[in-house]
Amino acid sequence: MNDGRKRVVFRCEACGCALKKRNSYLSHQFLRHDVYVCENPLCSASYAGVSELTHIASPSGVPEAAASELPPTPAYVRNQAQAAWRAQHVDAQADLFEPSADAAPPAPATGSEGEPCNP
Ligand SMILES: [Zn+2]
Repeated sequence: MNDGRKRVVFRCEACGCALKKRNSYLSHQFLRHDVYVCENPLCSASYAGVSELTHIASPSGVPEAAASELPPTPAYVRNQAQAAWRAQHVDAQADLFEPSADAAPPAPATGSEGEPCNP
């Protein structure tokens, strides 16, 4: 959503104006080279840098997706461990709440219809 504010990624170190991405190319599946130019026409300094994908933060939702070549983020590892723990313990927790045959019958509802109200 555009809220009317201009998104600035970097600023020129010489004049402080916003840098605009002028060129970008992939040199590797996970590595992009970027060239930024200062938007101040009197300055026009340009800068080069890289954007790199270093980790996978969450898995693909596609069932046949290949496994990622990137290492998982710590949060991703924690979520996987929690999901594995839940998968192992979900049956044990369900037994705790499963009603047994000799359990007391449910309490009758109070304030049933037909009974007079005695304040
Ligand atoms: Zn500048």
